[in-house]
Amino acid sequence: MRCYFCGLTATRKLLFVQSRRMAREAMVCIDHAEMILQQDQPRPIGESWSQGPLVQVDVEQLHRVVDGSAASGTEAVILQESGGTRRLRLAIGRCEASTIERLLQPQRSDRPLTPEAFARTLHSLGGKLLHVTITALTRGTYFALLRIDQQGHRFEVDIRPSDGIAFAIVCQAAILVHESLLPTVDPSAGRGP
Ligand SMILES: [Zn+2]
Repeated sequence: MRCYFCGLTATRKLLFVQSRRMAREAMVCIDHAEMILQQDQPRPIGESWSQGPLVQVDVEQLHRVVDGSAASGTEAVILQESGGTRRLRLAIGRCEASTIERLLQPQRSDRPLTPEAFARTLHSLGGKLLHVTITALTRGTYFALLRIDQQGHRFEVDIRPSDGIAFAIVCQAAILVHESLLPTVDPSAGRGP
């Protein structure tokens, strides 16, 4: 497979997502994958839990390594502000990337994936996922919470952001991010039309 941009060997797959469905797929080389994914790196925010307004985001891109020999830990999901241009890049695990990719496919698999089993369990218990919030970045690790309503009783569950994103896709729940985690500079500012 050849890179969509330069024709070199492609070892990365970028999925471009629209309305929580896979919209387009591109095979790219390592350098072009990094170029596309690294452009809107969030700024580090220190050690404490962040406070402040929440911004709704949605899955915009998924990055998956397709070369089995490549080092793991370079899969990523890009969240983009709904109706805006600010983006947050989250590094995710290989398994989580694979699960999210399968959830984005229009055709469903025969057997339930873990987030689908979770959603059915929650529903059976009279619960509803209200939203997933990515709350903080601490020592390079993002934290997230599920906000659940069970017949009027509301509570939060600690979760990895990648799992939270998968659950939000299955449950069609909103994904929220603390505004302090988004880059302060609008990446589109100053660019031509
Ligand atoms: Zn390339």
